[in-house]
Amino acid sequence: MTDVLFKEFVSLCKKLEKIQSRKEKVRVLAEFISKTDPENARIASLLITGKIFPEYEDLKLDIGVSTVYKVLKGLKSGQMFLVEKPSTLREICNSLRKIASIKGESSRKRREEALRSLLIPLSEDEREYFLRAIFGEMRIGVNEGIILEALAQALKCKLETVRRAYMFIGDIGDLTFEALQGGCQKLGNVALELFRPVRPMLASMVYSVTEALKEHGGICAFEFKYDGVRIQVHKKNDKIKIFTRRLTDVTASLPEIVELVKNDIKASTVVLDGEVISLKNGRPLPFQELVKRVRRQKELPRLLREIPLVPKFFDLLFLNGRVLVDLPYSERWNLLEDIVDAEYLSERIVTDNLREAEDFFEKSIELGHEGLMAKSLSSTYTPGVRGKKWLKIKTADTIDVVIVAAEWGHGRRRGWLSDYYLAVLDDSSGEFAVVGKTFKGLTDEEFKEMTKRLLQLKIRDEGYRVIVKPSIVVEVAYSEIQKSPKYRSGLALRFARITRIRYDKSPYEITTLSELKKRYENQFARKQRG
Ligand code: AMP
Repeated sequence: MTDVLFKEFVSLCKKLEKIQSRKEKVRVLAEFISKTDPENARIASLLITGKIFPEYEDLKLDIGVSTVYKVLKGLKSGQMFLVEKPSTLREICNSLRKIASIKGESSRKRREEALRSLLIPLSEDEREYFLRAIFGEMRIGVNEGIILEALAQALKCKLETVRRAYMFIGDIGDLTFEALQGGCQKLGNVALELFRPVRPMLASMVYSVTEALKEHGGICAFEFKYDGVRIQVHKKNDKIKIFTRRLTDVTASLPEIVELVKNDIKASTVVLDGEVISLKNGRPLPFQELVKRVRRQKELPRLLREIPLVPKFFDLLFLNGRVLVDLPYSERWNLLEDIVDAEYLSERIVTDNLREAEDFFEKSIELGHEGLMAKSLSSTYTPGVRGKKWLKIKTADTIDVVIVAAEWGHGRRRGWLSDYYLAVLDDSSGEFAVVGKTFKGLTDEEFKEMTKRLLQLKIRDEGYRVIVKPSIVVEVAYSEIQKSPKYRSGLALRFARITRIRYDKSPYEITTLSELKKRYENQFARKQRG
């Protein structure tokens, strides 16, 4: 393996940052990929897209901006170090891994020391890009789409093949590694494998049952949309693993789901897709309560008693050795029904009748659920794709955004970061674009917790406001989308209010700018009709 020097990686980033044209960015990246070995290319792909570790590892660096400044200041005033050899990309990555694994007593101090020895050999330029990388914002205008194209070009492979392999591999670093190791042929053979989670299929939004029926050609399946936590269950005989939508392994925090799958699912090998919810006297518990249960493994015994969980399965990706993703939804459902008891299946009807669908929607809301999902009967399962085959029908207009900055509060809110800058994902550049601000929707407790978390994510202190690493995803409700010269995105949310904190979502899964633009146009069209 020829190691890539960190300074070579930095020159690549600087070059990419200067290039405007997407095509040229793809070419430059493809050139880099073709002369790089799989392991180095894996690291480069992750860093370029603003990640340090694969999401499924759930590793956190836990380094705030104040720590970085402290360390940098120490370096400047300290003695000069004689650098024996320049750092490599792999060394940097290994050191970051070590930092993330530092736990327990005096961990803060040990992290600082590790960071110091990592920064010493780096030049000013390298430090700048290192910091961008650890705060998850490379700002070089390269998103995952560009990497996929570059891989296709470097491997002389069809883009479609790379895209499909990415669906099943799910992590851009792993994909790059596999691509360079096995070439186009290997990518072509990538399929769903037991115990390797795939990114779940996602849905687009519509505003009514009528729209959903129209989109699906007059007939479709309607399922309850549960307000819970998405789970993907892999089972081979008695071995069971459960993953979240971010592909994190949460098997340990869901023992009763493991038992239930072991005992009640009538299949030897299976991959199930579903939502886990919690019912109290027949009504679902609020999402915030449920998420506590999935995140806090330590307090499990007490939480287990207080928050019993029920799975509601709605899809089947693999059964007794056979991959099912290319079967139509209606066939997958029939197989699902054969192996799962009705009480653990999503409530569902198939209809072409508007009245019946509307009554079903009412029923879902009355029972305390979120609304309906409308699914095309003929659709295949496309991992990670937010397409039109699944449509969510919700009552309130909400979107998911990431917090990129926050202002200090006044009066009763003094001492809290309580006014948040909300951003969507600009899918053309891979950067985050601000679309509004809000100080509404959180409880006092949540403000306090949020202040703590935001300070840990601080990138820059501007006195009245702190700029943070985009990490915390919140769902916001709004009354209207307006054109706005104030923000670079060109759009602003009116009367935005946080409806919940989405611990389960990553900033790369939030609403995109093009989706918001579409909503803006839809809203306009509807108003004109009104
Ligand atoms: P959203 O998170 O608003 O994009 O909505 C999609 C999410 O709804 C999925 O990721 C699931 O977690 C959840 N969901 C609840 N019920 C269903 C269902 N019946 N089918 C598919 N997804 C569902």
